[in-house]
Amino acid sequence: TAPSETLGFQAEVKQLLHLMIHSLYSNKEIFLRELVSNASDACDKLRFQAIDNPELMQGDADLRIRVEYDADKRTVTISDNGIGLSREDAVQNLGTIARSGTKEFFAQLTGDKQKDANLIGQFGVGFYSSFIVADKVSVLSRRADASETEAVLWESDGQGEFSVTQVEKADRGTSVTLHLREEEDEFLSGWKLREILRRYSDHISLPIQMLKEEWSEEKSAQVKTTEWETVNQANALWTRAKNEITDEQYKEFYKHVSHDFEDPLAWTHNRVEGRSEYTQLLFVPKRAPFDLWDRDGRRGVKLYVKRVFIMDDADQLLPTYLRFVRGVIDSADLPLNVSREILQESRDVRSIREGSTKRILMLLEDMAENKPDDYKVFWEQFGQVLKEGAGEDVANQERIAKLLRFASTHENSANQTVSLADYVSRMKEGQDKIYYVTAESHAAASNSPHLEIFRKKGIEVLLMSDRVDEWMLSFLREFDGKSLVSIAKGGLDLEQLADEDEKKRQEEVAEQSKPLIERLQKALDGKVKEVRATARLVDSPACVVVDSNELSPHILRMLQAAGQ
Ligand code: ADP
Ligand code: MG
Repeated sequence: TAPSETLGFQAEVKQLLHLMIHSLYSNKEIFLRELVSNASDACDKLRFQAIDNPELMQGDADLRIRVEYDADKRTVTISDNGIGLSREDAVQNLGTIARSGTKEFFAQLTGDKQKDANLIGQFGVGFYSSFIVADKVSVLSRRADASETEAVLWESDGQGEFSVTQVEKADRGTSVTLHLREEEDEFLSGWKLREILRRYSDHISLPIQMLKEEWSEEKSAQVKTTEWETVNQANALWTRAKNEITDEQYKEFYKHVSHDFEDPLAWTHNRVEGRSEYTQLLFVPKRAPFDLWDRDGRRGVKLYVKRVFIMDDADQLLPTYLRFVRGVIDSADLPLNVSREILQESRDVRSIREGSTKRILMLLEDMAENKPDDYKVFWEQFGQVLKEGAGEDVANQERIAKLLRFASTHENSANQTVSLADYVSRMKEGQDKIYYVTAESHAAASNSPHLEIFRKKGIEVLLMSDRVDEWMLSFLREFDGKSLVSIAKGGLDLEQLADEDEKKRQEEVAEQSKPLIERLQKALDGKVKEVRATARLVDSPACVVVDSNELSPHILRMLQAAGQ
């Protein structure tokens, strides 16, 4: 390869850079948080790889992050002795956005600063946030397994191109140097940088070091010494006692592990002792990531073993329907060289998964009861995923069922706010079933002709139109001893709810319509199984129903769409 070459950013990166500078300007100091977060991730990765390959440490096992500034050159530099980047890594990771769904995400941007700032935050701003305060960024890096002459210098002014040059670097790791824009002098201050680090990065478990400063009478100013001092607490946040952690610290830690920009909605932090010993610090985000439905795109819970980072999105640690949860689990029992394969079989992992599931369900139960507004937010973002749990997690089905929310004829709105317990509390005298209708849209559900008789009798019906509903209902057959019944299926025994007069009338109608029914039966021969008189319609002349033991029309259409 050529020693130096100039390459163009992926189109989406160009768009992101442009938007970020304009929409996140009021929050510009977050660049430091993002670069420190990356440095910490790079050290975690090295520590993990060194478990099998100790020579990667090259005699320098004290992992740390350093922050320096040079007032004359007007630069701020963040360096680490972590895993480092090769030339290819630099081109890939600092020139493109690798997450799937990126294109679709950018298509949603509106040009409205406020809205776009929210969207971009959700996307995660990362390394590119450097360009909010810098008009040139230089990344000098050497991978832990590369030689002195195989280092790379990546440089860009954030305008659309970057250069990569092969250079020398004496030690392993990465230094990111920001050449500050004219108006950003405030960051050329030891006091200011320390303040930002304490606010945003105190939870980082590695030492973050800066050069000590002393008062000089001669210059009548603070001057830097040559001695490094650690400016954060430098112990893993989750190992600290709960009462020593502020909400702000929890929130900043969440942003680091989740790569999210917004505060979390809720969290749960517990140390579990006994048969299996672990610490869990789990968060529920405020907003679904744009790739929630992309199973490869998710970043879930990080696994640590005795404080050593082992892997990202360890999907064995929580069931699939809790894939929106972020955070860390630190096990005292698993071996450091644990692999994904071992995770699948491990009994310790099974007990961690059960314990963590319980904790999240408790957190949601508490939210539903005590913070209904938060629960509304949660349900809008993640309700459809939680519904998967009613099928996937038989052991917790009852608890999950209590957390579900639906639209219903009682509310006259598409908002899903009605719990099964609400429904049961409003059941009519003599009613022993929970009725629902499924359709492809809320409008179709709420206009279903099957609803007529229920509306007339004042019986509430749940209106379901999420894709996952039919699937969920094939597992969730009853709640509180009452079976869930589709009103679109045959054999609805509404008789118990009918009074004597009405029963008589229905029998008469059936008798009178016999000749008509015979004619219809002939005319539709082979097209339908049976024609019968019904009491379930009020305004519509006829409707098609499915046998009570057959698939509903909605699920049939879904299967047809899937080519079955
Ligand atoms: P994220 O941290 O969410 O992956 P970033 O934009 O912050 O996204 O960083 C992009 C990628 O660049 C990282 O995933 C990592 O691969 C690489 N990277 C950034 N900073 C460093 C660093 N200090 N050392 C090694 N790799 C880094
Ligand atoms: Mg990052």
